[in-house]
Amino acid sequence: MPHDLGPRALKSLLIVGGGSAGWMSAAAIAHATRGACEITLIESDEIGIVGVGEATIPPIKMFNQTLGFSEEEFVRATQGSFKLGIEFVDWGRLGNRYFHPFGKYGVEFDAAPVHHFWLRARAEGDPTPWQDYSMAWAAARDNKFDHPTRDPRLIQSTFDYAYHFDASLYARFLRAYAEQRGVRRIEGRIGAVHRHADTGDIASVELVDGRRFEAEFFVDCSGFRGLLIEEALKTGYDDWTHWLPCDRAVAAPCARTAPFTPYTRSTARAAGWQWRIPLQHRVGNGLVYSSRFMDDDAAEALLVSSLESEPLASPRRIRFVTGRRRLHWNRNCVVIGLASGFLEPLESTSIHLIQSGLMRFLALFPGRDPDPVSVAEYNRLTRIEFERVRDFIILHYHASSREDSDLWRHTRSMEIPEELAYKLEQFSQAGNIVSDGLELFQNPSWLAVFIGQDIIPKRYAPLVDLRRSDEFNRYLESLRRTMNQAAGAMATHEEFIRQRCKAPPV
Ligand SMILES: Cc1cc2nc3c(=O)[nH]c(=O)nc-3n(C[C@H](O)[C@H](O)[C@H](O)COP(=O)(O)OP(=O)(O)OC[C@H]3O[C@@H](n4cnc5c(N)ncnc54)[C@H](O)[C@@H]3O)c2cc1C
Repeated sequence: MPHDLGPRALKSLLIVGGGSAGWMSAAAIAHATRGACEITLIESDEIGIVGVGEATIPPIKMFNQTLGFSEEEFVRATQGSFKLGIEFVDWGRLGNRYFHPFGKYGVEFDAAPVHHFWLRARAEGDPTPWQDYSMAWAAARDNKFDHPTRDPRLIQSTFDYAYHFDASLYARFLRAYAEQRGVRRIEGRIGAVHRHADTGDIASVELVDGRRFEAEFFVDCSGFRGLLIEEALKTGYDDWTHWLPCDRAVAAPCARTAPFTPYTRSTARAAGWQWRIPLQHRVGNGLVYSSRFMDDDAAEALLVSSLESEPLASPRRIRFVTGRRRLHWNRNCVVIGLASGFLEPLESTSIHLIQSGLMRFLALFPGRDPDPVSVAEYNRLTRIEFERVRDFIILHYHASSREDSDLWRHTRSMEIPEELAYKLEQFSQAGNIVSDGLELFQNPSWLAVFIGQDIIPKRYAPLVDLRRSDEFNRYLESLRRTMNQAAGAMATHEEFIRQRCKAPPV
């Protein structure tokens, strides 16, 4: 260790776990500490990883850019594809379909937001669906893809995108990056965690073969068990199953026979919902369900019978408890990934929660003795982030008129968190969207789900009545025309990948 480092410099950090969370942590921390802190990662091949996180949201691009990956290299290495949003099928009611796009709706042209003009046009008989004002949907509808432009005068600047990728390949890709930057990988199963007798902090972990590894700071990425945060530190867990009753998933890949869509599909089922995520080498599928309303064999049979082709591997069953750890940073241990909590992958948020946890951790990075003020701020921000995402996911279940099964009857009539109830009331009465700077999902996302699931405000903004409808209708129509022309000029998703980032055959 060089002599000119500051007196509080953290000299050693140990990461437990080598799933997406472990290797994203190793890569990001190695990049930020530039070799000045010794980083070790322990993982157990025998235990393995969850390996089903395949759909992401736009901020992932920032994570990759920070680490210096080229998009082409990353998409090729992970059999990746592009994602313009999520298509929701049968959520608001059976037969209901809508798109949650990445990016904005239209372009603001007056003091009142665009959706208020759409509401008045609708009240006057215009049948145009709200999603027709989304550039992402204009492209996704025809399986088109291109990068957004940076010129804010162009309609092509109003959308955004993320990726689908193979999570195991992503972990491998990040591992190579982290090892090149000095991260030491140890393969082995941890059998015991030792704490300092005087402080109660974690001192070391011991493998079942007797090897012992000490560090000043620990990152727990050990998956649902929470080996350090829960089994050693007994941090506690808030269970949110009463709001989000799904607690199981079964996943199975299959070959692609349907179009190569640049979006994820989520189809609501009687006791949960099913995902379809198109990658280059296969389609990822899974059914998320509540064990209160469906048994495991029925869930597996439903998934397999609804795939577009034969499963390429035996279906994998996964159990989880929706909720979050009471502290995400406890003593000399921060927790990242599934060990920190779990929200079902309906809006593809888990990998994002890993990323944002890491960005916060790096901004509040500890010295040898973690500063209680920074620890408190880390926990405050992480709690808020988890709760806001939770509420957005609850909205999908609650804002439904489905009555065809016990799950839907339960979720539409259950009590919801106070803050969500307030948001719902504001929108359904007056079309107001209530969100602040700490919200991951911004106004367009809330609009997508509200309107997509038939929550139509009783009133639109009175300012809109001061405008002439022939004038703003002309504008709305020109928005749609421009979007359709722009989408028409794009390559198909399939062509785009073939030309720029085709992965080698597996
Ligand atoms: C059904 C399902 C679908 C999902 N879909 C998405 C999605 O579409 N998008 C998204 O963003 N996220 C999704 N996720 C979440 C995503 O999979 C996880 O956030 C991500 O994979 C991180 O997992 P992890 O690294 O925390 O845990 P894991 O993958 O479980 O890794 C845990 C690691 O800890 C190690 N370990 C555990 N115990 C020990 C021990 N005793 N000794 C040594 N090592 C140990 C294991 O070997 C492993 O390396 C989904 C999750 C589930 C359950």
